[in-house]
Amino acid sequence: MNPADGATHEASKGTIRVLQLYPRDMNIYGDWGNALVIRQRLLWHGYTPELLEYNVGDDFPDDVDIILGGGGQDSGQTVIQDDLLARGDQLRGMAEDGTPMLVICGLYQLFGKFFRTKAGPVIPGIGVLDIETVGTDERLIGNVTLTSPEFGEILGYENHSGQTTLGPAVEPLGTVSKGAGNNSKDGHEGARHRNVVASYLHGSLLPKNPAIADFLIRTAVERKYGPFVPGNPDDDFARLAREHAARRPR
Ligand code: GLN
Repeated sequence: MNPADGATHEASKGTIRVLQLYPRDMNIYGDWGNALVIRQRLLWHGYTPELLEYNVGDDFPDDVDIILGGGGQDSGQTVIQDDLLARGDQLRGMAEDGTPMLVICGLYQLFGKFFRTKAGPVIPGIGVLDIETVGTDERLIGNVTLTSPEFGEILGYENHSGQTTLGPAVEPLGTVSKGAGNNSKDGHEGARHRNVVASYLHGSLLPKNPAIADFLIRTAVERKYGPFVPGNPDDDFARLAREHAARRPR
């Protein structure tokens, strides 16, 4: 193992398979960084990460422990829509079964019921989340701070035309104190259902919010191996990034 990873050289506690959904078409404003954070924190916690990718037309890998999905332009969402719909039953099944997932912006929207784009066409979603999204003329752009009951203060960056309304089967991820979040009206950001965390926030999200990364890792480990014994992550950079992000204007 590469000493630069900062991992100890003790035997691995096990392998965790992390799947990025559609990184070719859905990966903007640094969303790829979420996978890098999960990989590094798995190493710090003593596990062996396996990073996998699923793009349109690929075979879907077996035995996936964590799913990550990023944001994309409306055009990218259109490119993946048929393939995603074909995977809908499988992804809904995995979500209901408790697989930890993080979906950002464009895939957050398509994990919902539908996204009616500003240009008119409706992109159907796979209904993992009880949410609906409608594109508007008002683009919600800028830095965001929110408070979540589970994860404390969450920091990130949003840029979307779609405005999302939550239904009764999901909880908001948190309440914004800076920025918009799901829409320009209700002050909520993101959604929670089972072990799915959904958010509009890029940046990427996980480098500044390691509590969410560790939730995904802990949940994956508990489902696969039993009790999670954390390692010793180096959070210095995360702390600096949080301090910096918190000082930034909207
Ligand atoms: N295309 C979607 C929108 O504008 C999602 C954008 C994104 O992923 N940042 O609402």
